[in-house]
Order: sequence, then structure tokens, then C-alpha cells
Amino acid sequence: MPIRGCLIDLDGTIYSAGTLIEGAVAAIEQLRAAGYQLLFLTNTDSQLPETLAAKLQARQIPIQAHEIMNPLQAIATYLADTDPNLYILAPQIVKTWLEQQYPPKPEEPVSHVVLGHCGDVDGYASLNLAFRHLLQGAEFLVSQPGRNYLSNTGLNLDTGAFAALLEYASQIQPTILGKPTKTFFEQAMQALNLSADEVVVVGDDLTTDIVGAANSGMASVWLRTGKGQDQTLTPSMAQPTWILESIAELPALLAEVNN
Ligand SMILES: [Mg+2]
Repeated sequence: MPIRGCLIDLDGTIYSAGTLIEGAVAAIEQLRAAGYQLLFLTNTDSQLPETLAAKLQARQIPIQAHEIMNPLQAIATYLADTDPNLYILAPQIVKTWLEQQYPPKPEEPVSHVVLGHCGDVDGYASLNLAFRHLLQGAEFLVSQPGRNYLSNTGLNLDTGAFAALLEYASQIQPTILGKPTKTFFEQAMQALNLSADEVVVVGDDLTTDIVGAANSGMASVWLRTGKGQDQTLTPSMAQPTWILESIAELPALLAEVNN
């Protein structure tokens, strides 16, 4: 099957440490002109796609909100076949967005504890309540498994650290929805209406992008930008199908592969 769609990472792939990667915008435009369907995948769970897209556009990166998929959308899609009553630990904008789709039912037991970015969470009481809902049988949904993330002030606790705290206390295993889970990449492929052999995953991180592609039976391109500058590929790891210096080389690779 020819490759018809690209699932492209953002941080480290399109931009890195606040700087646009050379040739990234031209590559996006060339891929679009060649007819590839593009979906940009990020594990950022503190912001909605609209906010992320506005920030990209402010930096002259031509990506629209509907072309971005993050774990929050994956959670909403995951819940679509259920009639949930959610307890949500996430920034207020995320909580409001989820509650618009799944209005709270104060009289009913909580069916799902949703754990997203905890930067705004007000401490022990709200974590303890999540813990109690888990003990009472709520399913545990986690946006993404990151341990920590780098900001301009240093390293910060990420969502996976809070998930581990609640898992440890409750002994309830979470369902994780962001990269590198198969659920996330399959939802992305379905959003493009393509099959696994028609898409390629493109990213700088062996542990999220390349592992996710391998989990989902998809081809992958590992880029030596962003985290890809520091990571070392060893034989025991999930192997990328191709390795490129940067996304600037992607249009030429796909033209060759599809020829
Ligand atoms: Mg990345």
C-alpha cells in the first residue's frame, strides 16, 4: 500500500526549544501539495487543540486546530460509547470542555476518574477524592504517561507521576490514552480514515513516537532533531523504519518510497 497519511509529532519535530526547525514549514507545505493527509500528534494535555494551533499560527506555522490530536480528544473519543459521570483532575479549560460533552450527574456514582495535567490541581483533597472514587469502582483514565517535562524554569512533575501516585494507593491500573499507546495511534489513523499500512509516524522521540508506531503496526521515521539528537538507538528498542536528519527530508523520502 502506498503511504497516504503522516502522523507527525510537534515538539522536537516542527519546533525545538522554542525555535522553528529549519525547513519544517516548507516540508508541511510540500506534503500537503503532494496530497498527503496530515495529523499532528502531541502528548500536551494542559491545553486544547485550539490553543495549541493559535500558538503555532502566531509563530507562522500553518497548522489548524482540527489537524491536531492530543490525549484529551482521545479521552473524549474513548468515552463516546459510554454514558459517563466523570471526576476530572485537569486544568479548568479542559474540565469545562469535557463537561460540555459529558455533563456531570451529581446524584450518580462516578464512572470514570479522568487524570490530565495536574498543574492547577488544588492539592491533597482533590487527589484523595479521586483515590476514593477509584476504590468505589470508577475506571481510571490517564491522558499520558510522562514522568516529567521541561519548562523554562526547569523540570516539572508530569501527569504520569500523579497517575503512579493514585495507582500505588488504589492498586487500580489506569488506562492510558496518549502516546505511545496503541489506542492513541489507532484513533489517529481512524481520524484520517486510513489503515495502519497507509500511514507513517514521524517524530524525534524513540520512546513515544517510534514505540507507538511499533505498537500499532505502522511504519515510522525517527528524526535526529529535538530529543533525537541525544537518544541512542539500541538493538533491544523498537526500531524506526527510516532515520532522517530532520523533517525537511521527509517529502523526498515519501516520494521515493511511494514511487
Ligand atoms: Mg517530540
